[in-house]
Amino acid sequence: MSSEPRYPHEDLEYGETLEVAPGIFWLKMPLPFALDHINLYLIEDGEGWTVVDTGWNGDDVKAHWVDVIKRFGDRPVKRAIVTHFHPDHLGLAGWLREEYGTALWMTYGEWLQAHLAWTQDVTHDVEGWMQFFRKNGIDEHSVDAYRAGVGNFGRWTTPVPPRVRRIWHNGEFEIGGRKWQVIVGGGHSPEHASLYCPELKVLISGDQVLPRITTNISVWFAEPEGDPLRHFVESFDRFRHLPGECFVLPSHNRPFYGLLERLDYLRDHHRERLDIARDFCTEPRTALELIPVLFKRELDNHQIAFAMGEALSHLHYLVTEGTLVRMEDEADGLIRYRRAGG
Ligand SMILES: [Zn+2]
Repeated sequence: MSSEPRYPHEDLEYGETLEVAPGIFWLKMPLPFALDHINLYLIEDGEGWTVVDTGWNGDDVKAHWVDVIKRFGDRPVKRAIVTHFHPDHLGLAGWLREEYGTALWMTYGEWLQAHLAWTQDVTHDVEGWMQFFRKNGIDEHSVDAYRAGVGNFGRWTTPVPPRVRRIWHNGEFEIGGRKWQVIVGGGHSPEHASLYCPELKVLISGDQVLPRITTNISVWFAEPEGDPLRHFVESFDRFRHLPGECFVLPSHNRPFYGLLERLDYLRDHHRERLDIARDFCTEPRTALELIPVLFKRELDNHQIAFAMGEALSHLHYLVTEGTLVRMEDEADGLIRYRRAGG
C-alpha cells in the first residue's frame, strides 16, 4: 500500500469554505510567508459555530472572517478552540472575542505561553534569542536577518484573551451533539491540542501531523538543552490507536487519509536526518554548520531561524540518546557537538 497521503478534495481559494465532513467546514486563510496559508475549521454547534483556530492578525484574514460569518447566516461564533499559541492559529482569538463574543478554549500551557510571548519577555525576549543563536555559530552581520526572521508576536496576534476554558489530554466535550476528544502532543509547541471525533472518525490534527510539509521542531533558547524532537516523535503513540481510515484535517496542506502511514514516514524521515547529523559530527560542529547539510534549498530570513532550531533539535536528540556530546568551547564561546567517546 502506498504511504502517500490521499487527498479527496481539490485545494480552496482564500476565504473559501467546503464541507469536508457532516457539519465540518474547511476554511482556507492567507499567511504572509513562504508557507502561504492556514486551514481553519468551522463546526456546526447548535444555533452557532465552534471554530478551530483563528488565523493570522491580518486585515485580509479579518475581511474573510466577516464575509464567511455573513455567508453562514450571522450565526454566533460561540467558541474558538485554538490548537496552540503560534500566531497563525491564535492570532485573531482576541479579535473574535471583541467582535463576536467568542470564548477561547485552549490547553492551559498554550494559553500561558501565549501571554508570555505577548510580553516579548522571558520566552520571546529577542535579544536572549539572538544571544543563543550567536552561541550556536551565527556571526554579527547575520544577527539582523535572524532578528527580522523571528518577528514580533505582539504584532502578529491580537491581544490574547484574559480568560480561557481549559482543555487537556484525553479530555472530552461535545460540539453540536457529538463527542470530541483532546489529544495533546509536544515538540512543536508546549501542549499542542488535536481534536478527534470518534463518531465521524475525523481528526483535526493542527500542526501535530501534516501531510506534505514537516512540522517545525525547534530547540527554544529559553530551554537551551531541550529535546523537542523526542517529545514530538513520542507524541505519535497518542495517535496510533486511531482507525486507519480516519480523515485528517490538518492546519496546512489539504485534508487527507493515511494518518498511520504518515506517522511512520515522519518517524523514518527524522531518523534519516538524525543519521545525517550524526555522520556530520565526526569532528566538532556548530548547529549553524549543520544547517546547509540538512536544508539544501535557499532559506529566507523567517526560515533560517526555524532551520537553526530544527538543526538543534536533531543534535539534542542525539545528545539525549548518547550518540553526541555537547560542549561549550572556552576559546570562542561557541557550542559544538561531537561524537561521544571520540
Ligand atoms: Zn505552529
